Amino acid sequence: MSQVDKVNLLGLSPAKLEAFFAELGEKRFRAQQVSQWIHQHGIDQFEQMSNLSKPLRIKLAEIAEIRPPELVQQLESTDGTRKWLIRVAGGSCVEAVFIPEKNRGTLCVSSQVGCSLDCSFCATGKQGFQRDLTAAEIIGQLWLAAKSFRDLDGQSERVVSNVVFMGMGEPLLNFDNVVDAIHLMLDDHAYGLSKRRVTLSTSGVVPMLDQLGKHTDVSLAVSLHAPNDALRNELVPINKKYPIAMLLASVKGYLAGLPDKHRSATIEYTLIDGVNDRPEHARELAELLHDVPSKINLIPFNPFSLSDYRRVSNNSLYRFRDILVEAGYTATIRTTRGDDIDAACGQLAGMVNDRTRRSERYNRDTLADISEPVRFIQGE
Ligand code: SAH
Ligand code: SF4
Repeated sequence: MSQVDKVNLLGLSPAKLEAFFAELGEKRFRAQQVSQWIHQHGIDQFEQMSNLSKPLRIKLAEIAEIRPPELVQQLESTDGTRKWLIRVAGGSCVEAVFIPEKNRGTLCVSSQVGCSLDCSFCATGKQGFQRDLTAAEIIGQLWLAAKSFRDLDGQSERVVSNVVFMGMGEPLLNFDNVVDAIHLMLDDHAYGLSKRRVTLSTSGVVPMLDQLGKHTDVSLAVSLHAPNDALRNELVPINKKYPIAMLLASVKGYLAGLPDKHRSATIEYTLIDGVNDRPEHARELAELLHDVPSKINLIPFNPFSLSDYRRVSNNSLYRFRDILVEAGYTATIRTTRGDDIDAACGQLAGMVNDRTRRSERYNRDTLADISEPVRFIQGE
């Protein structure tokens, strides 16, 4: 069997890995052992899996492989914020960002190369859509991040406690691969993350959101960005297909299907100067969400070269937040300062040439001058 025909075990969901071993006539616990080697110890060579018999290791090496995507560049700021530029099959690049906070470490992962939905304020959207990531390429971002912590810090603890699908791409348009990756994130023999600490962010692909609850019960974030259809049609074009009422009904359906009735959705609202940041927008939003269990996360728009939008002023930002809080909502502000390493929301474009040049610059400076690292506050 040639190299290309080998099965890449990295992206197989727990159920698919079991099926793979069942076909070899092996017991279920073999899949669990191999999963632990791959995902908990970061091993990519079968010969190192010392609790497997020698013949099984030889057999596995013949028919299978553990092939992560290629790490092109790692940027690291002095406080532990990290960004990885990752090359996936075919030569394109995606980015994953790790944001350390006091009590948690959040990895922001990509689900597609580019995005087809073309939201007017998003750098990824401006790049167009190239392709879906495979499950191995999605979970590979977590695998690489965990491995880099292990290699650099000698830490075997789970440093990544949270994962958010807020990198490049629309996760619900790459449904099967995203769901397989989520199952690995939650599985005790893989990453063992709590379902509350894995968050899928969507711009509102309603038919797939209606399906999501049949497959998983992770936390949900919804990119709303506008309190009415006229404005949302401009900012998030998929709204013309699935307008706000339809989207919020689907969100409520997802929440109602969760075993724990007290969970809420995070409503993401990117504030753009003079576009969606007026007090009447805040009041309209408060009214709109009155029967949706939600926490609101306000994201100041992060500028990028292909956009004429401007960041919301601090005055408008705090006034907007205060109106929501007075209306009884939990409203948090996500401060995104990673724009100095192009790691902030909506700035991930994964363009290797441009990015490599930038990276060289930051390598020379050893990032020591980046005193304000990426900060990412998401309401829990
Ligand atoms: N496609 C998914 C997930 C990736 S985008 C989605 O749209 O939800 C992750 C978050 O970053 C979304 O809330 C998105 O609206 C926001 N975002 C995109 N571009 C941004 C920008 N330039 N400034 C601030 N937030 C942005
Ligand atoms: Fe795609 Fe999300 Fe960007 Fe919209 S905001 S273009 S859905 S990645």
